[in-house]
Amino acid sequence: MALATKTCIECGTKFTGRVDKKFCSDACRITFNNRLNSTGTNTVRNINHILGKNRRVLMELNTTGKSRVLRSKLLEKGFDFGYFTSIYTTKEGAVYHYCYEQGYTSSDKNWYLLVVRKDDGEREKKN
Ligand SMILES: [Zn+2]
Repeated sequence: MALATKTCIECGTKFTGRVDKKFCSDACRITFNNRLNSTGTNTVRNINHILGKNRRVLMELNTTGKSRVLRSKLLEKGFDFGYFTSIYTTKEGAVYHYCYEQGYTSSDKNWYLLVVRKDDGEREKKN
């Protein structure tokens, strides 16, 4: 196996090693991998947090199981339209976004209809 002068991708130290070696030491390899893993964990945690918050906002605004709310009300509560757990399109073409069992669809550009999925088997039916 050829040896080459390499630069450690963790600490920047020059070292001589096999061409496929990336780290000057085990310590640097472990530090690098630990940081990667914790970044991944934080990403999952942050997204779960946003989804949980979205669900709480929908529950709070939808006390009757079917409510109309202003888009601005959702935004005011900190709702993030970029995060949801599933999408369901009805035969008529209406698109429902869900955060777990709490769903919403836009009836026009300002108003949203909030719905609740009854259970896993049953989809929201159109009235
Ligand atoms: Zn190093």
